[in-house]
Amino acid sequence: MATPTSNGKIRVLLIDDDPDDHVLTRDLFSEIPGDKFELAWVSDYEAGIEAICAGEHDVFLLDYRLGERTGLELLAEAMQRTCHGPVILLTGQSMLEIDMAAMEQGVADYLEKGRLDATILERSIRYAIQQARYEAELKKQVAARTKDLEIANAALKDADRRKNQFLATLAHELRNPLAPIRNALQIMKIAKDNPTVIEQSRAIVERQVRHMIRHIDDLLDISRITRGKLVLQFASIDIHEAIAAAIETSEPVLDEAQVTLELHVSEEPIIVHGDRLRLGQVFANLLNNAAKYTEPGGKVMISSSQDGEHAVVHVKDTGLGIPAEVLPQVFKPFTQVNRTLSRSQGGLGIGLALVEQIVQLHGGIVTAYSEGVGKGAEFIVRLPLEGDANPEA
Ligand code: ADP
Repeated sequence: MATPTSNGKIRVLLIDDDPDDHVLTRDLFSEIPGDKFELAWVSDYEAGIEAICAGEHDVFLLDYRLGERTGLELLAEAMQRTCHGPVILLTGQSMLEIDMAAMEQGVADYLEKGRLDATILERSIRYAIQQARYEAELKKQVAARTKDLEIANAALKDADRRKNQFLATLAHELRNPLAPIRNALQIMKIAKDNPTVIEQSRAIVERQVRHMIRHIDDLLDISRITRGKLVLQFASIDIHEAIAAAIETSEPVLDEAQVTLELHVSEEPIIVHGDRLRLGQVFANLLNNAAKYTEPGGKVMISSSQDGEHAVVHVKDTGLGIPAEVLPQVFKPFTQVNRTLSRSQGGLGIGLALVEQIVQLHGGIVTAYSEGVGKGAEFIVRLPLEGDANPEA
């Protein structure tokens, strides 16, 4: 739409090749009280198209007869150049076909010159401008909606891609432990009388089964959370109980990864309103990840403190770190950095999604930090202290 004039007048352009019509139209405008209009005139076809494209007028009065050609041809050509504007078509006499064709081309009004007076002209101009405003507003809304839909569509495509990738990972992760289990069973069969070999094989089976159980439990949990079916057992708990339970769960993984665990917890209890088991699961997931993504000989630290109204737990490691561009994504389900299917002891890419969901159900937040690849990672869980808690659950 044209921008308003500095004097606030409505800018009207007459496109008409007849100078007498210009004079008549000018006279009509002078009869409209209030001096609200500013009338300009172009008499040739090309100048008319240029003016519509320039968009410097609020409304165009377009004569149907323009020498050899017609106002409707002019409009069609302007439209081809993607130029639009509120147009009122003026004709010598009323003809249904012209009226219909004008409507089809989006003309705002169709006026017969012989019957024109100042009142009709003013009203027609106002309606044309109003209609153009509605159309512009509608276009704006459609454009905004289209943008929203494009964003939603891209998100759906991304989710679909992740899900496909996830299915491949899932198949791989569930199949992975089966080969060592089968081998161990085979060895147990052969080495019936050798207790050392039997014990080694049993330990292999136990470790692999533990992995599978962990994956399947995570899967069940994420599906429960997605369906809003995860029930939390809230109680008044010391955050250190959950940390202790997590360490117990994660010890075999930390040992296996040959990383040392450092514990820096506050001596005072830090009481939150939470689900002991689920918070234990949160810290265990973070410890397991720290072990998984830290080279042997590395360190994992867990600490607790109280910060204002929050219990704060840090889980930090000296491991592989997380590239800055991936950091904002790590809590999204199925996100994995540089994941290759050949990696053993991998995961499903849902551990951190679970962590975030459970923390949020406690009214808390979890954030991830890393100074980059090779520089370790840190996860910080903040939970409201009891009394300040307002869990969503
Ligand atoms: P996964 O099952 O792959 O471990 P998670 O949801 O637990 O899935 O983690 C998502 C991704 O975030 C991991 O694949 C890994 O790339 C990255 N990540 C998580 N924790 C750490 C960590 N402590 N150090 C480095 N990268 C990590």
